[in-house]
Amino acid sequence: MRRKLAAGNWKMNGTASSLAEVQALVSLHCAPSVDILICPPATLIAQAAGLCANSPIMIGAQDCHAAASGAHTGDISAPMLADTGAGAVILGHSERRENHNETSDLVAQKAVAAHAAGLIAVVCLGESLAQREGAQTLDVIAEQLAASLPDGTTGANTVIAYEPIWAIGTGLTPSLAQIGEVHDFIRSRLSERFGVQAAEDFRLLYGGSVKPENAAEIFATSNVDGALVGGASLKSEDFSPIIRALEA
Ligand code: PEP
Repeated sequence: MRRKLAAGNWKMNGTASSLAEVQALVSLHCAPSVDILICPPATLIAQAAGLCANSPIMIGAQDCHAAASGAHTGDISAPMLADTGAGAVILGHSERRENHNETSDLVAQKAVAAHAAGLIAVVCLGESLAQREGAQTLDVIAEQLAASLPDGTTGANTVIAYEPIWAIGTGLTPSLAQIGEVHDFIRSRLSERFGVQAAEDFRLLYGGSVKPENAAEIFATSNVDGALVGGASLKSEDFSPIIRALEA
C-alpha cells in the first residue's frame, strides 16, 4: 500500500520569519496518517530540519547539482543537502526546465546524485498549454518520464509529480478526467519499464493550483497519491487543510 504524500514547494519564498509556518505544521500534524514534505529555499533547510527533528515532517530541497562537489559556484550538491538535514529534493520542476534549460537527461543525472546521497527524488513532469492543446500531452509525459528516471529508480527513492505547466500558479487545473488519464498513463509506463509490482510502489503526485477547495476531489482521482503544492504551501492555514483532505 502506497503511503500518501503532501509536499510543499516554497520556491524562492521565505525568510527566517517564515519558519513559524513550519512550526505551526509541526504542532498541527504530530501524528499524520500521510507523509508530509516541506521544501523551503536552501537558506532555510537547516533551521526547518531542526524544527522538524522530532516530528514526522520531512524537509526537502528544490534542486541539486549532479556532481557531489567541485568548481560549481553557487550550486549545492545532494550530499550537502543531506548533510544539512534534507531528506528529499525536487528535480526537473518546470521552472528549472524553462528558466535554467534543464533537460530530462540532466534531471536523470541529478536523480542519480540524489539517490547516492540517500535523498528521495521528487521528479516533475508536465506539458505546456500548447502541447496540451496540440494533443501531445501523453507523448511529452512519456518522453520526460523515460529520460528523467535513471536505472535504479524505485518507488522508495523516487516520487513522480505530474505538473501541467499551464496549471502552475495560474488557478487553472485540468479536469479530473485529464488528471486521471495522465496518472494512469504514468503508472502503465512505470509498469512497462520496472514491472507491474515495482510500479505499484511509486507515489504519483498531482501539482498545479491545488488549494483547500479542490484538494479532496483531486485526491479522489485515479492513481493520485498526493500533491505537490506551491502557493498554498506557504501558509500553514492553507497547507494544513490540504494535508487533512489527503488524510480523509
Ligand atoms: C509548483 O510550483 O510545484 C506548484 C504546483 O505551484 P502552485 O501550487 O502554486 O500551482
